[in-house]
Amino acid sequence: MVRIDRQEEGEARAGKVEHLSGRYGRIRQEIARLKEMDQALADAPDGQISLTDPDARAMATSARNSGLVGYNVQSAVDVETHLIVAHEVTNQGFDREQLSPMAIAAKAALGRDELHAIADKGYFNGREILACHEAGITMTVPRPATSGNAAKGMYVKADFVYDAERDVYVCPAGEDRTYRYTTEERSIPIRRYWINGCKTCPLRTNCTTGNERRISRWEREDLVDDMDSRLGRDPDYMSLRRCTVEHPFGTIKAWMGGTHFLTRRLKNVRSEMALNVLAYNIKRMVALLGVRGLMRAMQG
Ligand code: SF4
Repeated sequence: MVRIDRQEEGEARAGKVEHLSGRYGRIRQEIARLKEMDQALADAPDGQISLTDPDARAMATSARNSGLVGYNVQSAVDVETHLIVAHEVTNQGFDREQLSPMAIAAKAALGRDELHAIADKGYFNGREILACHEAGITMTVPRPATSGNAAKGMYVKADFVYDAERDVYVCPAGEDRTYRYTTEERSIPIRRYWINGCKTCPLRTNCTTGNERRISRWEREDLVDDMDSRLGRDPDYMSLRRCTVEHPFGTIKAWMGGTHFLTRRLKNVRSEMALNVLAYNIKRMVALLGVRGLMRAMQG
């Protein structure tokens, strides 16, 4: 009896050892796989790897922790007809560098010498706004509020009035803040303005925590000032943008069933989107002109 028990114990131990060494091997394999992936991630130029679709990238969205991975569809839509006049699919997560390519493509498609384009604040980028201006395109893009001063009850840049003739900023205390010097930030020339009298100013606690409040001005900030004036004169610009560009997007998304693209890889997603845009534009033109009208227009 004793010998049989010992034999069973030995067999059970051997089974356990075999099971544990199997698990150990699998854990070592998994560690090696994760190390490889870590290295691949470190080597990836943009620090991202998508296992489902190698071309898809993380998209910046306002939804918290959305972790949305996919493609960025850009479109320019005509205000009068709601036709999509230009579109592009990229895998860049942000819109900031998409403004001038889309606006210039829309201007070429419409064959206009001049164009007024409206975009949302996600497109606000001085370099892009200047590129549009140089291409004969008037842009209206709201300036995003990047300073947390307003929430703290402190003066924001809009409280400092720029006097272009004298090249000074007039501060909330009515003092002139003069130009001091120009620096470069990411290759963009920025002019700096301040005065020395802030230390004794009664408004100082609402203005600055430093010795003086400094104001920065991009060399072509006149373009931004013009955009602010247009938006101030006509606050409906942004509703017009929403009603115009969201209409085709909403229609196409409804056709797609509110789901993801059916294809993978950037090249294929571009083709898929191009077919959607073509179908939308044909249906839109039929709605505007009727089938006969559209046939006549295509023959003419
Ligand atoms: S702290 Fe300086 S910049 Fe601010 S309101 Fe007073 S004088 Fe003007």
